[in-house]
Amino acid sequence: MNFELKDKQKLVRSSVRKFSEEVLAPVAPIIDRDAEFSWDTAKELSKINAWGIQLPEKYGGADLDSISYSITIEEISRICASTGLTVTVHNSVGAYPIYKWGSEEQKEKFLPDLASGNKITGFTWTEPNAGSDASGIECLAVEDGDDFVLNGSKIFVTNGAIASVLVVGTRFKKENGEEGMTALLVEKDMEGYEIGTKEDKLGMRGNPTTSLYFNNVRVPKENVLGKISDGFKIAMQTLDVGRIGIAAQALGIAQAAYEHAVEYSKGRIQFRKPISNFQGVSFKLAEMATNIDAARLLVYRAAYLKDNRERFTKESAMCKYYASKIARKATQEALQVHGGYGYMKDLPVERYYRDVKVTEIYEGTSEIMKLIIAQQILRGNI
Ligand SMILES: Cc1cc2nc3c(=O)[nH]c(=O)nc-3n(C[C@H](O)[C@H](O)[C@H](O)COP(=O)(O)OP(=O)(O)OC[C@H]3O[C@@H](n4cnc5c(N)ncnc54)[C@H](O)[C@@H]3O)c2cc1C
Repeated sequence: MNFELKDKQKLVRSSVRKFSEEVLAPVAPIIDRDAEFSWDTAKELSKINAWGIQLPEKYGGADLDSISYSITIEEISRICASTGLTVTVHNSVGAYPIYKWGSEEQKEKFLPDLASGNKITGFTWTEPNAGSDASGIECLAVEDGDDFVLNGSKIFVTNGAIASVLVVGTRFKKENGEEGMTALLVEKDMEGYEIGTKEDKLGMRGNPTTSLYFNNVRVPKENVLGKISDGFKIAMQTLDVGRIGIAAQALGIAQAAYEHAVEYSKGRIQFRKPISNFQGVSFKLAEMATNIDAARLLVYRAAYLKDNRERFTKESAMCKYYASKIARKATQEALQVHGGYGYMKDLPVERYYRDVKVTEIYEGTSEIMKLIIAQQILRGNI
């Protein structure tokens, strides 16, 4: 077993870190305050190929492995979690399924624009009556000649306000009576596609979350992703991949909180000593450091298994469950180490505290992660 990153992975870490500290750091508090996505930042991200991290060069991507992908998301999220969210959803649950299940025509049509960042994508499955129970979706696409006519609504769509094309989970009904669940590539400029108002959120405020409404949207059959009845399988396998990105995002936030706590505790004097001299404070730092290391290893293991084409459903659920849990704890403890100053918006720690919570919710809640892990174990994947 080799714990050393490869040279290329180290280079990814140093270059994304430099980019994030120079380009994202000034923007992060502003997009959080204004709850505004920054298209200027999106253009800057194109320069480091952040929109096509794992897509082949043929489509304009950087063709990196999954550990490099995790490092990229961690480093971006360490500075700006909202941007980390936009990027990870675009790459892992938007572009990835198009690359994995798309026809060559679909890949050629969509992937170059997605890899360059000219167009943003995402994945929408959740509906008002279908959250954790992904099988409960009600959106319906009815076959009509060369199209499917799509009706229904989606909620909590990450990148919803900025995406040009989305992977949309829906029920389908064919003229021959066949029914099931499918994944459609639905484009923003299709008639009847309506974007709802932006959600006002606790955290991740620089990423626009919206509802979507489909009113008789005619989606051509060539926009069906994979086999018509493979929708649920595509969704589940896509989320296995997506969760590695969410875990990496949580890791980046935890790392940022931890670094701030270490620095602050060395400089803050109380009782004539730096507060880091008090065991009550330094033990918090020790716990953060250990948890972050353990989470990072879980993330890398899931990424490694994916790249080696081994099963990773359990491992990706484990890394998301664990990284999001320890990250929430790390931000809470980092804020505590900062005392009252940590509660103020002058310092970024309160933003980490707000941003991190949703990593325990989206792409499957922590309870659902435990359900998946337990199912895998009980099926013999011990
Ligand atoms: C900011 C944000 C962005 C999002 N982005 C997207 C997106 O881009 N695309 C998308 O499709 N979805 C997205 N989501 C939706 C997200 O994936 C769901 O919110 C999540 O899966 C939970 O569904 P729910 O909110 O309906 O909660 P519910 O499913 O109603 O769950 C409520 C509570 O019950 C628990 N629970 C439910 N079932 C069980 C069970 N069987 N056992 C134990 N506990 C259970 C849950 O863990 C949770 O604590 C986003 C959500 C947020 C908040």
